[in-house]
Amino acid sequence: MNKLNIVLFGPPGAGKGTQSEFLIKKFGLVHLSTGDLLRAEIKDETPLGLQAQEIMSRGELVSDHIVIGMIRNRIDANNTAPGFIFDGFPRTKAQAEALDEMLNAKSQPITAMLALEVPGPELVRRLLKRGETSGRSDDRDEQVIANRIAEYEQKTSPLKDYYSAQGKYKGINGVGSVADITERLVEVIG
Ligand code: ADP
Repeated sequence: MNKLNIVLFGPPGAGKGTQSEFLIKKFGLVHLSTGDLLRAEIKDETPLGLQAQEIMSRGELVSDHIVIGMIRNRIDANNTAPGFIFDGFPRTKAQAEALDEMLNAKSQPITAMLALEVPGPELVRRLLKRGETSGRSDDRDEQVIANRIAEYEQKTSPLKDYYSAQGKYKGINGVGSVADITERLVEVIG
């Protein structure tokens, strides 16, 4: 049977994590968030975590090599899963190509890229609000938030064209209540 492999896409603060929670329950998927995986490495003070920490605190992207390796391990460790939600990955063309290679080798390609669309000022508002409770220092500093959004515009946003070329890009309005947005996503997944 075909697996349901979803790339949940969008700028920082678009609601990828929030929406993932519902989708993993509804479809029984394994959630792979590179941000969460990196924060776990930092918490455990692993060599990888120590390397990533400084880069993340500036709002820059961690090297492709590191995140691709983390994702490869998790995909291989979850061979029997009904599918994956990729949250915050891929963020560069090299990451997208590596992901395609890994999944195509298993004949389990990406089903769709669901892209949450949220205007810039709303993203900044949401991230600063999250910073009040998330414990994430990168959500508290407006300059770091601006860097993250700039990195997204420059390196990540072009992936819309990458998935469009495969007929897999689906844009979704990411403004509204959490439940409304969930409904829009479920409708597109079908
Ligand atoms: P958000 O989407 O709100 O920025 P994430 O938890 O996805 O939060 O990412 C936090 C930080 O982790 C990013 O700013 C970046 O430094 C790093 N990171 C996460 N995923 C990747 C990735 N796929 N490639 C490179 N860096 C990443």
